Formats: sequence, structure tokens, C-alpha cells
Amino acid sequence: MISLEIPARIRPTLDAAAAVADQILRLSRRYDRAEHTRPQELDLVADLLEAATQAGGLRAGAASSGRAESAGSDGRAAGHANLATVLGTMELCRGDVGLLLALPRQGLGNAAIAAVGTAQQRAEYAGRWAAMAITEPEAGSDAGAICTTATRDGAHYVLNGEKIFVTSGERADVVVVWATLDRALGRRAIKSFVVERSNPGMTLVRLEHKLGIRASDTAAFVLDNCRVPASALLGDPDIAAEDGFAGTMETFDNTRPLVAAMAVGLARACLDRTTELLAEAGVMVDPDTPHTAQGAAAARLLDLEADYASAYLLTLKAAWLTDQREPNSMAASMAKAKAGRTAVAIAGACVELCGPIGYAETSSWRSGRAMPRSSTSSRAPSRSSFWWWRAACST
Ligand SMILES: Cc1cc2nc3c(=O)[nH]c(=O)nc-3n(C[C@H](O)[C@H](O)[C@H](O)COP(=O)(O)OP(=O)(O)OC[C@H]3O[C@@H](n4cnc5c(N)ncnc54)[C@H](O)[C@@H]3O)c2cc1C
Repeated sequence: MISLEIPARIRPTLDAAAAVADQILRLSRRYDRAEHTRPQELDLVADLLEAATQAGGLRAGAASSGRAESAGSDGRAAGHANLATVLGTMELCRGDVGLLLALPRQGLGNAAIAAVGTAQQRAEYAGRWAAMAITEPEAGSDAGAICTTATRDGAHYVLNGEKIFVTSGERADVVVVWATLDRALGRRAIKSFVVERSNPGMTLVRLEHKLGIRASDTAAFVLDNCRVPASALLGDPDIAAEDGFAGTMETFDNTRPLVAAMAVGLARACLDRTTELLAEAGVMVDPDTPHTAQGAAAARLLDLEADYASAYLLTLKAAWLTDQREPNSMAASMAKAKAGRTAVAIAGACVELCGPIGYAETSSWRSGRAMPRSSTSSRAPSRSSFWWWRAACST
């Protein structure tokens, strides 16, 4: 039976993640302004995260996800690794999504290696920062339409093609590149290859200028006769199997819950800050009072909390299924789609609820123009603005 209860042993590590989010990751504006500057502060955070993960504590980011992490040697589920990872990721993204994405050695390619790589490959690339390159100018949502080719040449494969929107492409040690062994064979011939960033056949041609998550670098590459050893092909080189592409797509079963968790963390930050700003303006949100007896702003915030709860729970379910070694493709896809849409909707609604402050870098009503006070409810809430979060954590 499904249980999304947060295990007691995870809670201290979530408190640690909350402290990192509140005390370190609020650097985000500095790196939003200094786009393409590597946030040096994250080296220490990444070291602490790895040490904590190895000690069985704090987990967050792509390197902690995956079925390999959750499989016990006796063949049974080993516990809560993926649940802990999405919860840690949510908490850190409450600090800043861009900085989480820029954490060294936590690239989406690390999740791909965990999902598709052999035990030997997982050991070989352990501790290395792996970006993931799937998207091409003519292939985005439809990953099966990629055109980059991999041609066998003796003990090597030779890669040719173009990759765009590669998160951490500039800073990672290696890039997991998706390419087809034979375009005539369709999706089942698509395999992923680990390419060293220093490989002279893979040239970084552009860093994107983005509207958000600017602490994270996003690169475009050209692969021009890029030669990699045959052992760089992740997993099974066989293209005979009809379900070969399904194996490659397993990467997404691991990464979609993480992307959902990023969106959930961002939504939580929006709701918390909006609750604080509304309280400053005299609008108190009371979950124990009917919508109709509260001001419009408070009622809207309660609706947003319910939307948040649905995205949060779907995300936990997707991770929980992985921990149970159950198929999670459907749940992971739903969680990513729902959480992404919910984060955008909540962020937009919070900007609107906060009026001019929502649209400014000014961080408080006190430093900006005064907001009219609520005329309907100024009663103090019976629980704090974190009421929903705390209720979830205390079950
Ligand atoms: C900041 C950032 C970081 C990224 N990082 C990475 C990375 O690390 N590695 C990587 O490989 N890629 C990365 N991407 C690329 C991302 O995965 C693609 O943008 C995504 O797959 C969508 O592809 P596309 O941009 O070509 O859009 P399209 O596929 O052209 O889609 C455009 C719109 O059409 C919709 N659409 C597409 N097909 C259909 C359909 N059949 N029916 C209905 N609607 C449809 C889509 O939902 C979307 O709204 C990143 C992108 C961004 C913005």
C-alpha cells in the first residue's frame, strides 16, 4: 500500500537542507546578475552534500537518484533513497533552482549513468559531473527524432551532430550524448555515450542568455568526428531488441521526479514569501476559516496551497514507486507535467497577489509603497504560514 509518510530518519537531513537553502542559496540574485559566472560557493555545498549522502544523510540532485540506489542486495527495495532525494531537492530549490542545477557533480547525466550504465560504468564515472545532451535544433520533446549519429570504427564510435540546451555543459567533466547507431532502424538504435568535455571533437559553440535560472549554464555543442572508446556507450550496445529505446528512456523515470521536485520547491518559496508579504500588509491566511469568510487574497492563497499539495504528492508518489522498484514512468511524467504547470501558475498568481512588490526587486512593503490593508480579515492565523508543510512533515 502506498505510504508517502516522511520517514523520521530523513527529517534531520531535511532540516539541514532547509538551512542550506535559507543561509547559502539565497545568493541567487548575485548570480542572476553575473550570468555565466561559476558560483564558487557551491563547491563547498557539493562536498557537504556528497559527504552527507555517503553517510546516509542529506540527498538531493541527480546523482542521488535512480533504481541502482534503491536496490538492496537481497533484491528488495532498500528504503527511501529516491523519496529522500526529491524531498532534499525540493528543500534546496526553495532556496534557488538555478543554484541547485549548478551544483557540481549533480548533473542530469549522472542520473542517466545511474539508470542505464552497467555496474562497471557506474563505478568508472562515480564522482564525476555529467551533463546530458539530448536536445537538438530539430528534436526537442520528441527525443526519438534525434539526428546525431554514432558510427562504429574499430574500438571506437565516431559521433557527429549538434546539441543545444545542455545544462552544465560548460562546467561538467563529461557529457552524456544521445546518438543513433542507425537512423534507418528508428528509435531502438538510439544509445547514450559518455564524452569527456576535453574531447577535441566536441566544441562548445554558445552559452545561452536566459530569463531565469541564470546561475546554471546552458550550452550548445557541435560534435565533429568526435571519437570515443566503444566502452563509452552506456549499457547494452545491442540494437536488435524492439524495446531498446525504452531502456534509454528509463533515464527520464529518474530525472522527471527531480525536475518536478525543483518546481515544487520553487512553488513553496513563492507561497512562503507571498504569505509573509500579505501578513505584512495585514492579510492573514487562516486554513481553519471558510474561504467565504476570508479576504479574496487569503482565499486565493488557500487555493494555491491546494494546487501545491497536488503537485507535491504526485512527486512523492513517483519517487516512492522507484524506491519500491515499481514502474514509475506514468507517475514520473504526470508529476513533472503537473508540478511544472503548477509552479508557473503559482509564481504568476503570487506576483499578482503581491501587487507592485511582486513585480519589483524590492523585498518588502516597508521599503516600497504601502499596500492597502485587508478590510475583511486581520485575525492572526491559527497556524503559521507553513501550516501545510508542517502538517505533512508531522504525520
Ligand atoms: C533552461 C533549459 C535547460 C535545458 N537543459 C537541457 C539538458 O540539460 N539537456 C537536454 O537535452 N535538453 C535540455 N533542455 C531542452 C529541453 O529539454 C527542451 O526544450 C524540451 O525537450 C522541449 O523541446 P523544444 O525546445 O524543441 O520544444 P518543442 O518540442 O518544439 O515544443 C514546443 C512546445 O510545443 C509543445 N509540443 C511539442 N510536441 C507536441 C505535441 N506532439 N503535442 C502537443 N504539444 C506539443 C511542447 O510541449 C512545447 O510547449 C533545456 C531547456 C531549457 C530551456
